Parts: sequence; structure tokens; C-alpha cells
Amino acid sequence: IKKIGVLTSGGDSPGMNAAIRSVVRTCAYHNIECIGIYRGYQGMIEGDFKEMGPRSVNNIVNKGGTILKSARSLDFKTTEGRKKAHQNLVNAGIDALVVIGGDGTFTGAEIFNNEFGYPVMGIPGTIDNDIYGTSHTLGYDTALNTVVECIDKIRDTASSHNRLFFVEVMGRDAGHIALNAGIGAGAEEILIPEEDLGLERLLESLQKSKASGKSSSIVVVSEGDKIGKNVFELKEYVEEHMPEYDVRVSVLGHMQRGGSPSCFDRVLASRLGVKAVESILEGKSNFMVGLYQDKVTLTPLEQAIKGSSKIDKELLRVSDIMST
Ligand code: ATP
Repeated sequence: IKKIGVLTSGGDSPGMNAAIRSVVRTCAYHNIECIGIYRGYQGMIEGDFKEMGPRSVNNIVNKGGTILKSARSLDFKTTEGRKKAHQNLVNAGIDALVVIGGDGTFTGAEIFNNEFGYPVMGIPGTIDNDIYGTSHTLGYDTALNTVVECIDKIRDTASSHNRLFFVEVMGRDAGHIALNAGIGAGAEEILIPEEDLGLERLLESLQKSKASGKSSSIVVVSEGDKIGKNVFELKEYVEEHMPEYDVRVSVLGHMQRGGSPSCFDRVLASRLGVKAVESILEGKSNFMVGLYQDKVTLTPLEQAIKGSSKIDKELLRVSDIMST
């Protein structure tokens, strides 16, 4: 292995830049050339490559987003597109690939590996933390901190006006962000896809909380929750059944994906980047690097794609007790 390519793909997340930096510098440390591939798989198909030395990644460890840009590439889903991408890698003398992204990105990498026997290594980058084989994905910790900071601010206005706030957070089909940020920010209730509380129990819980003397409430709603109503419909529903409440909605949206990565995400990105490159140099391929019990580990891409990251049941109980 003389040359390794690196790309970011799918949704961006804080810590991707720190991971790019780590891959580039680990290559330099081992006297290997590193090529940055722009706009994910689309850039691979278009041959949008740039040589990256250790100084090309100065001052990015603290930056959100990705300097290599990200894209969703429909062309890469076609055999034709992947053939072109493979030819471009061969022409550029790139021997292996590190892909930073979510499960879609890993699916693409696995297919590419199967088709051409091409060495690939994945680094999990998504704020949703919905990837099997790692306790944390890049950007998740930063997103939690962003959400907690926002809810703290919402709480100030909620308590000044005796309001009930529904705060919608990201997470796709996983409730990790909602559950952890909800506990961290002291939410009354947390609605996640993994556990359908049901409308009646939600009402009961809010009524109980009101009766117990709480003057304001925050309900954190995961975007993929299964209660069957979106946050605006939830507002209407609660207003109908509890007219004494002044209900407001806040959808946090894309601010959760941005911002300077937390120290945790920077350290994680640095560790995963080193492991990804060094695993390739050891001849390994088709794995995702991740964190398990605070150790950096390898999980076959296939497992990372097929498995699901489970919610910690203990957290559900803690959340219940905290809303007493
Ligand atoms: P996020 O979780 O943030 O959305 P992701 O990596 O899952 O990140 P996707 O848009 O699902 O994001 O996938 C990124 C890219 O991976 C796609 O645009 C496509 O180029 C490639 N990809 C996804 N699925 C496949 C597939 N079945 N075959 C080939 N390529 C794929």
C-alpha cells in the first residue's frame, strides 16, 4: 500500500474534519501518500482528487462540516458509476480507501469491495449514533451538547411563561439523541422511536406533572418517534385536552449538525483515523473502526450495516425516575 484515498459521504457531522486530519497525518507518519476525494462517491466518479500532506489539514481539528465536502451520489448506485470510480482510483494509483459516513456510505463501500476486491475501511460519521459496532459515532457527542444547550435556553422562556414546549430533535429512526439530551436537559417526557409511550400516557404524565406543582414542561420528541403525530399535531392535541397549558413547538433542525466538535469527538476522530489507516497497512479490509468499551475495535462492514444500535434500557428507567 503506497497511496490511500479518503472521502466523506452522506450527511456531514462534526468531527469529520478531525477524522480527515487524522487519516492524512497517520498516512504521513507511515510515509504513505494520502489523496483527498471531494464530494464523496460523486467525486470518486468524477476524479475530483487532491493530494493531501500533513500541512494541508492545519487548523481544521476544531471545524464542523467537512473540508472534502459531502454528497449523495445516485451514480454510485449503478454498476457503471462504480466502474468509473474504480478506474479513476486505479489511474491515480490509489490502493485503498477510507470512507467516513453513515450506513449508506458503508453499503456503497461494501458493494465496491465485493465487486473489485478493493480495500476499504469505514469510519462512522453521523450525529444519529445509529450504527452497530460503536458506542459513539463522530458528531453524536457534539450534537448532544448542542441540543442540551438549546433546551437550556428554551427552558428559560418556558419557565418564565408557564409553558409546555415540544422540542423536536434529530436522530432518524434512533432515539439516542432524544433520550440522552432529554435526560441531560431535564425533560419531563422523551418520545423515542424505540418505545411508543402512546398519547394517553403522555397526557397522563403531563397532567401528573402539572398536579405535582411543575409550572412548565419540556417534552423532547425524536424526529422518528412512533406516537403517530408530529410536534405540531401534538401541540394541538395537548391544547385540546389541557387548555390550561400554553403550548409551544421548537424544531431544532440543522443547527444540530453543525458547530465545532466537542473534545470527545475530536479525540474519537483522531483515534479512529489512526486505526483505520493502520488496519489497512496490516492488510485488513471491509471493516468499520469504532469504539467499544472505550477501546478502538473493528467490526465487519456487513455487520455494521445490518446490525442496529440499541437504546440503553437503563436510561429509559433513569429518565422515568427523573421526571418524578
Ligand atoms: P447519513 O446517515 O448521514 O445519511 P449515509 O452514509 O447513510 O449518512 P446516504 O445518503 O444513505 O448517507 O449514503 C451516502 C452515499 O452512499 C449515497 O449517496 C450513495 O452514493 C452511497 N450508497 C448508499 N447506498 C448505496 C448502495 N446500495 N449502493 C451503492 N452506493 C450506495
